[in-house]
Amino acid sequence: MATSRRDTDVVVLGAGPAGSCCALRLLQLGYRVTLVERARFPRAQIGESLTPGIAGILDLLGVRAQADALPRMAGPAWLVWEHADPAPRAAAGANAMVDRASFDDVLFRAVAARGGRCLQAAAMAGLSGAPGAWQVRLATAHGIETVGARFVVDATGRRNSGGAMRTPTAAPLLALWTDLDRGPCAHLVEACPDGWLWGAARPDGRFRIMAFADPASVRGRDAERWLAAQLARSRLFAVAAGALRPGAVHACAATPAFSEAAWQPGVVRTGDAAFCIDPLSSSGVEKALRFSLQAAVAVHTVLADAGDENLARTFYEHRLAESVATHRAWAQRYYRMAWPDDASPFWRARREDFVMTPKGGSALARLVARTPVPAPGPAAAPGMLLRGEVRRCDALDIIDEPCVVDDRVQLRRAVAHPNLPRPVAFVEGAEIVPLLDVLAAVPRLETAVELWSYRMPPARAARIAAWLCEQRLVRAAG
Ligand SMILES: Cc1cc2nc3c(=O)[nH]c(=O)nc-3n(C[C@H](O)[C@H](O)[C@H](O)COP(=O)(O)OP(=O)(O)OC[C@H]3O[C@@H](n4cnc5c(N)ncnc54)[C@H](O)[C@@H]3O)c2cc1C
Repeated sequence: MATSRRDTDVVVLGAGPAGSCCALRLLQLGYRVTLVERARFPRAQIGESLTPGIAGILDLLGVRAQADALPRMAGPAWLVWEHADPAPRAAAGANAMVDRASFDDVLFRAVAARGGRCLQAAAMAGLSGAPGAWQVRLATAHGIETVGARFVVDATGRRNSGGAMRTPTAAPLLALWTDLDRGPCAHLVEACPDGWLWGAARPDGRFRIMAFADPASVRGRDAERWLAAQLARSRLFAVAAGALRPGAVHACAATPAFSEAAWQPGVVRTGDAAFCIDPLSSSGVEKALRFSLQAAVAVHTVLADAGDENLARTFYEHRLAESVATHRAWAQRYYRMAWPDDASPFWRARREDFVMTPKGGSALARLVARTPVPAPGPAAAPGMLLRGEVRRCDALDIIDEPCVVDDRVQLRRAVAHPNLPRPVAFVEGAEIVPLLDVLAAVPRLETAVELWSYRMPPARAARIAAWLCEQRLVRAAG
């Protein structure tokens, strides 16, 4: 095949947090990346309340300083959720509001600065060839161009242009949102009879308000009047009811859903294009970034020497299924804590178990359906286990598990047990199965800790022993 200087290893579609994060990580791993964005940057985006967990990811990507330099607003949080009375909530570790246009622009510019080819006002117009040797037709501001690529990452967001099969993971959810000229310097969240309200001060001094409801309760009504009525009935937002600006209320879909086509040969979806979560957690950006790091690992596993697409796909789909199960369980627990009674269809639908009905009946949909909801961690076992004679719990199994080792997916022996949300291969950075093999040869856990300490600092060996006890993977002998 003839090559062109425009040919690349990976074409990433969409320069939201997911696409830029994946592009940056692939550049760090030594790949050539072309990032294709439909809009012209900087472009507005909702989802501006960022969780503290993002900082570590920005550090890894080497863009923390640029992101930290952006103006941000963080104030106290006020919550009306479990009770009808507003209660102050600790602000420590709370979210910070940023301007998403600027935040996404920082990531986008970093891709270009690290040698990625960045196209704005461009989109994919066609895909031909075969996995590993794609011909990607791009419609750019200068006309159509075709680039060769080994892999395609689709990070085009919730309103995915690829027509992917999307399966809702919870009851339908609609968001109405607007900006007021001013408001309190705080985060406000309130459960209401027909949904919930959210508000936060933006760095530019304006105040963002969002109302979340069942689309059926808004359909056929004037959105502005509906929103004003919700605000007027609320405890925290009542003063805002009269401050809505005419014609400035926007609506967007917010139903959590995943794509059954998250992995296709030579094409992976990431961020909201793979799975969008309930906005209740205000952690969609962090989830999109984390997921994209895993997408980069999976792509690296395929493209590196002796690449293994099956292993990469298994790893990626299992992480997606776990993510769906974790977020579904979290959102349901949180909705169940809210005070409005079950007379409201909105709250009833969110408290009951939602039955997913996959559109395509794919293997991924079956995997998602059978992935267990993570149970809260088991209670700590008595410390005396450390000194007494112990043996492995009978329910403990040793299996091969796809793990990330040196930025690639590799099979490692792992422990599987009903107490663990998923099989575990590494504890405190050490492979756990060889350590259990040592334990099988000695009667006491403290003796095993002594032997492990030849290979690692004693404090680390002790923490691993404590973990085995806490998870109840060992029990008193006899
Ligand atoms: C109502 C609501 C409130 C939310 N609030 C929060 C919040 O407070 N905090 C939070 O963390 N998350 C929040 N989220 C979620 C958050 O916005 C998303 O999870 C996050 O933006 C996902 O990032 P992404 O990169 O996957 O997608 P996006 O941010 O949607 O980026 C996708 C990019 O792809 C581009 N694109 C689209 N189609 C094409 C194409 N065909 N070719 C090329 N480019 C294309 C788009 O222009 C866009 O730039 C909220 C979501 C909703 C619906």
